Amino acid sequence: MKSFTNANPKNLAQALTLVQQARAGGKTAVLAGGGSDLLGQMKERVITPDVLVRLTSIKGLDQVKEDKGPGSGVTIGGLITLDALSRHPLIRRQYAVLAEACEDVATPQIRNVATLAGNVAQRPWCWYYRNGFTCFKAGGNTCYSVSGENAFHAIFGGGPSHIVHPSDTAPALVALDARFRIAGPAGERVVPAAEFFTLPTVDPARENVLKDGEALVAVMLPAAKAGTRSTYHKIMDREAWTHAVVSAAVVLHIDKDVCREARVVLGGVAPIPWRLPEVEKLLTGQRMTPELVAKAGEMAVAGAKPLAKNGYKVPLTQAMVRRTIEGLSAKG
Ligand SMILES: Cc1cc2nc3c(=O)[nH]c(=O)nc-3n(C[C@H](O)[C@H](O)[C@H](O)COP(=O)(O)OP(=O)(O)OC[C@H]3O[C@@H](n4cnc5c(N)ncnc54)[C@H](O)[C@@H]3O)c2cc1C
Repeated sequence: MKSFTNANPKNLAQALTLVQQARAGGKTAVLAGGGSDLLGQMKERVITPDVLVRLTSIKGLDQVKEDKGPGSGVTIGGLITLDALSRHPLIRRQYAVLAEACEDVATPQIRNVATLAGNVAQRPWCWYYRNGFTCFKAGGNTCYSVSGENAFHAIFGGGPSHIVHPSDTAPALVALDARFRIAGPAGERVVPAAEFFTLPTVDPARENVLKDGEALVAVMLPAAKAGTRSTYHKIMDREAWTHAVVSAAVVLHIDKDVCREARVVLGGVAPIPWRLPEVEKLLTGQRMTPELVAKAGEMAVAGAKPLAKNGYKVPLTQAMVRRTIEGLSAKG
């Protein structure tokens, strides 16, 4: 690993200044959460920053706070660990899809250090990128998976890069209509989760709208409506310690057996959390019959474009969507 300076800012302003100062001095600087993704990339020399600005040294960015006023939601500090978030009683009670997504990440050790912001902003785990290939993600102009090993790559939204977005929490946050608070040298802005993640056609080197030196500081969730139920299901190629081959985050608002509102978002199949608006439209206003749910599974894979070795993800996705909606509507 290349040597680097570890900076421990006391507050956010100081953190952002440290990044700016490093860059002004001709050095490369990165923001770090728990470091569980970043340090792996540094050890493998996928990235070689001069300065690592540790956001976990800032106090107070790891809290879950109920917003004030009727109909208000919840604000979650971006530096909360996935373990703490998965155990939080309010999150478990009202935003089960997020608690379950956190629980499904990696291993207990990783969840103990990994932060929510770091999970959302983690870089792709495509074997070409992680093993030093000069692919789009590493600043090159090739996606080696197209003619190479693509068993775990995208079946939706691929091209020119065919990575899948690796985060388990990201589909859950899109399904919950979360908004992200971002702080940077130009001030703060709020971006809906659905607009935060960007396809490779926008910029094949990036996965989201974060600009250099910007920090994801908080995630805001709208108030949970009465009658809302939600869940996260994940299929892996082994029992634990790995990313989703296919996952589904589903939020249903059911009133007297009728689905009033639906969010269905897939993970592991596209370069961004992949929302299924046609499936959501199909379910809205309907009673959840087995026929309707089977149709939802079929519609979920409309337009899938598998590569040579990941065609198996199509029936897997269809079954995953059907079973997840079926299980959730039966919960009552
Ligand atoms: C063996 C293994 C298995 C894994 N399995 C899964 C899995 O099943 N599901 C899953 O979702 N993930 C999985 N991961 C990835 C893991 O969840 C991420 O490494 C972790 O969530 C990243 O969080 P962190 O706080 O450690 O981020 P860091 O490693 O500190 O940072 C990750 C990236 O985010 C950026 N970043 C961090 N914080 C901020 C911020 N506040 N604002 C802006 N940018 C920021 C960093 O610059 C860096 O690019 C796995 C990782 C390993 C090593």
